[in-house]
Amino acid sequence: MKPTGRSVGSILSSPRVRRVQRTLHNFQVTIICMFVTVLVLRGLVGGGRFGTPGQDLEELRNHLPSMAHRDRASRSMMEYQADGEEVPDPSSVGPETELDQGPVRSRYFDPKLQHHFLGEQIVDWDDQRAAFFKKQKKSNLTANGKPRILLVSGSQPKPCDNPMGDYLILKNLKNKVDYCRLHDIEIFYNMAHLDKEMSGFWAKLPLLRMLLLSHPEVEWIWWMDSDAFFTDMKFELPMEKYENYNMVLHGWYDMVYQSRSWVGLNTGSFLIRNCQWSLDILDAWAPYGPLGKARTEGGKLLTKYLDGRPEFEADDQSALIYLLLSQKEKWAEKTYLESSYFLHGYWVILVESFEKLMEKYHPGLGDERWPFVTHFVGCKPCHGNAGDYTAERCTKQMERAFNFADNQILKTYGYVHHDLESHSVKKVVESASNWRNPSGLINPVDQPRLLRGRHHLITLD
Ligand code: UDP
Ligand code: MN
Repeated sequence: MKPTGRSVGSILSSPRVRRVQRTLHNFQVTIICMFVTVLVLRGLVGGGRFGTPGQDLEELRNHLPSMAHRDRASRSMMEYQADGEEVPDPSSVGPETELDQGPVRSRYFDPKLQHHFLGEQIVDWDDQRAAFFKKQKKSNLTANGKPRILLVSGSQPKPCDNPMGDYLILKNLKNKVDYCRLHDIEIFYNMAHLDKEMSGFWAKLPLLRMLLLSHPEVEWIWWMDSDAFFTDMKFELPMEKYENYNMVLHGWYDMVYQSRSWVGLNTGSFLIRNCQWSLDILDAWAPYGPLGKARTEGGKLLTKYLDGRPEFEADDQSALIYLLLSQKEKWAEKTYLESSYFLHGYWVILVESFEKLMEKYHPGLGDERWPFVTHFVGCKPCHGNAGDYTAERCTKQMERAFNFADNQILKTYGYVHHDLESHSVKKVVESASNWRNPSGLINPVDQPRLLRGRHHLITLD
């Protein structure tokens, strides 16, 4: 008898089933390809650290240049944790207080008490200094009769995570040493955490107080971040303009007092006078700084109060603007906001035009024609890509700013960098510099002289 039904084997090997099998197989391959494609795309765009598309998008947005300044919160916490120490437990703080009533409490904060986070309260500093000057007459003036200035900067105690970081910090320090040497300014560089709670951009507060008290002979302290470079080696601060002021920052009155903008002034380069008023403002400023609840709650208050401020923990710049606004009668009158030259200049708008400036202008102007200070806000030389801009972009532009400034130094000795991107130098033959040492005593480029090159003598007229 002929079998009427088909065997399983014959069914599975029929052309129709083989077609179905092929289709299923193709479908499987397509699914695998799609999966791989999604994985690769996530890797390429740099998202995927958090898991949800919304969070990925947020992370990408944080890295877009238009969001510059956003990332200060994560950056300062990172500074602290990089030190390998514990962040204080927020639960150890005291009872809540109303945000709008002023500084929020830290773990030591009690709204009924007056706080002196930076040390014992001092009320008679002006008298103490006056007594000091009776014995040490005019010691707050330099030999040229100018107010004595101490330039202060600093960086973290440990080596940088980014291998280029320490090199860039060294270059920055050399840049500051050059400027100070030429302008009879003393310099202090700090690498110690004087107060573990006052980390990151808050580290300057305890340091400034300590130096003001230890150096009564210094009339002004000039704080300058380690990512701020002098780019005009000739420009001098117009100190006579600040005779009636105790603090000088780069900023704009309208932006601070009318717009309440959180970028209305910058605390990366500023002057503070050695006097009681300054100790008082440091005391009023400090309560926003301690790590933990003071800083996080302070951040909420500042974001609520200031225009354009993203949500993140309290930073020194926002806290100072808040003080100027909320206690205007106490602090505003003695705080000068300078915008006629770049006491701080935002690097993004300056660095691309250095070559053009070199063709058209000369040092000594200090403004957009030859910026006095170029500040790499949002760059993290010590932590590579952790800032708001890539390490590659920051490194390249910091080196350009350094070389732009270094040319002004080297020219007085007859050398210049090949170009702004090169650390190698060549001899200059022409008396190219219109740069003059402020003392007026030394300007070798103005003097006819001989430079002995490797193979020949070059005459400079
Ligand atoms: N700083 C310091 N000690 C530290 C960490 C930072 O003295 O342990 C200083 C350093 O000079 C740095 C400044 O704090 O330049 C402020 O931080 P940053 O420049 O990163 O802030 P940004 O200007 O980007 O807002
Ligand atoms: Mn800075």
